[in-house]
Amino acid sequence: LSQLFRPLDLLGMVYRTIRQGLIDMEAMYRLIDTQAEIADAPGAPMLHVEAGEVRFDQVRFGYDPEREILHGVSFTVPAGHTLAIVGPSGAGKSTIARLLFRFYDIQGGRISIDGQDIAGVTQQSLRAAIGIVPQDMVLFNDTVGYNIGYGREGATQEEIEAAARAASIHDFIMGLPQGYDTRVGERGLKLSGGEKQRVAIARTLLKDPPVLVLDEATSALDSRTETEIQEVLRSIARRRTTLIVAHRLSTVVDAEEIVVLDQGRIVERGRHADLVRADGLYAAMWARQAAEREDVATERTIEDAF
Ligand code: ADP
Ligand code: MG
Repeated sequence: LSQLFRPLDLLGMVYRTIRQGLIDMEAMYRLIDTQAEIADAPGAPMLHVEAGEVRFDQVRFGYDPEREILHGVSFTVPAGHTLAIVGPSGAGKSTIARLLFRFYDIQGGRISIDGQDIAGVTQQSLRAAIGIVPQDMVLFNDTVGYNIGYGREGATQEEIEAAARAASIHDFIMGLPQGYDTRVGERGLKLSGGEKQRVAIARTLLKDPPVLVLDEATSALDSRTETEIQEVLRSIARRRTTLIVAHRLSTVVDAEEIVVLDQGRIVERGRHADLVRADGLYAAMWARQAAEREDVATERTIEDAF
């Protein structure tokens, strides 16, 4: 009798695997909201990352060719270093991150990693080299363990837990009804923005990519969580080429280079102190955020008084 059931079991497994694959793809595509079909060039070689230098050279791009979003953007992130991109909402910061992952092809200029044009290498090898911690993570409808383990095929439970510990999410997971087997995502337990971001960080730690892209969360993380996450992010950025999209300027005060993007153009660049002194867009953003920080501090003091 058991032999009779085996083919059915197998069929069930195949079905579940395919279905899971489709759900994951769907989640991936929602995550990256890509419509364009990007194809590998025939016979494209694999990307060969040695040091991990990232370079944008006069990059021009528009989602709609009629409306250009980036008007010739150039910068270099030296291997193992960090470049921060700041600027008003809608400036094109997240677009830069998407282009590095080649979710879209550019209309002019060149993007390269260690001198290799990213449009000329296989997408698979390109995406294997880059880890993204997005601003708003979409979880797969699966267990929290699966969501972390997705970072590296064949990761063991020990490796998954080590990554979760490093991302300060292990204790939280252990407190869930079924620990690492707890289902999350739209049809499972809803995680907060900060928790999802830590899952993304754990996944990225497991992937251990030479190039890292961080799109910082603006959303309502409480300040303790924010400080904790920033510490984790800083530690994973160390010794890795990192492109960080920073919303709160307080996080880029120490950055080696800050690029200020406005309406698809780099309008200023330098270190924090230089940019404050330059008294331009960055200085204005800094002053505004300083005022907001003071408001928050005042509110806290008032709350404490009661
Ligand atoms: P930032 O991250 O600096 O806030 P984005 O890179 O997200 O800015 O967006 C830059 C510009 O591109 C905005 O005008 C935005 O409306 C537009 N944009 C972003 N994503 C898309 C998309 N998928 N399709 C069309 N336009 C988009
Ligand atoms: Mg953005």
